[in-house]
Amino acid sequence: MKVLRVFPRRTKATPIDELAFVGEPWLFLPEADEVHVSCTFTWDCNEARRLAKAWSRHYPIVKLGGPAFGDRGGEFEPGMYLRPGYVITSRGCPNRCFGCFVPQREGAIRLLTVRDGFIVQDNNLLACPKSHIHAVLDMLSRQSQRPIFSGGLEAALFTREMALAILSVRPARLFFAYDRSGDYRHIEEAVAIIRELAEWKRGTMRHHVSCYILVGYPGDDVGQAQERIAKVMSLDVRAYPMFYRDDVFTRRPVEWMDLIGGTIAMGGRA
Ligand code: SF4
Repeated sequence: MKVLRVFPRRTKATPIDELAFVGEPWLFLPEADEVHVSCTFTWDCNEARRLAKAWSRHYPIVKLGGPAFGDRGGEFEPGMYLRPGYVITSRGCPNRCFGCFVPQREGAIRLLTVRDGFIVQDNNLLACPKSHIHAVLDMLSRQSQRPIFSGGLEAALFTREMALAILSVRPARLFFAYDRSGDYRHIEEAVAIIRELAEWKRGTMRHHVSCYILVGYPGDDVGQAQERIAKVMSLDVRAYPMFYRDDVFTRRPVEWMDLIGGTIAMGGRA
């Protein structure tokens, strides 16, 4: 079956094949059996609904879905909703972090068939059984590109044994997540393990290890967020502040934009 996919916005993970579109229908449209409008971010839901209507003028079957609409997600199909190279080998998460939709949307950990890819987008790979993690590492060791663990590794589960296994596949980048106040201690420990085991040159840790830092959630302020970012950067880890957004937030207040801009200026990302 030929499925044309439509996305409300382009990101670096958006597929680029001839059946993948961003936004409105074009003048010349390919044949397809179905159109799937896929929406990742809740703040794009209205645009996704609008696009579903627009595309239904050209195709009889138009389906609206994606994580933002609460899809639990089934087996992962490489290249379908994410650009080739990206891979998801598990869904769900056993944790209940504030502001995260994953547990309510996808439930506890579910293991998927391990397909090929090198950018691992699992919500919480380290919460999977060891046998699954090793199957993923086996798959990664067969790829021509070095792996990137961009889904966010839970630092509390990054034991010495796990670090040895992950470093054995020579990752290009790995990401931790600093979502809860207690996370920092674990990130510090994980970085110490990496520093001891990895063969990266001194002072190059930030080229390989990054950390998503949730900022701007209710109760947070710019000063506290700056402190968290500075602590992460003091470990020689690249900071990626992730601004908390609920369905209502459409714009980041200017002081938060300044904070994120300042982090980028210091070598972080947003
Ligand atoms: S560990 Fe990550 S995926 Fe799991 S609940 Fe927390 S933020 Fe969400």
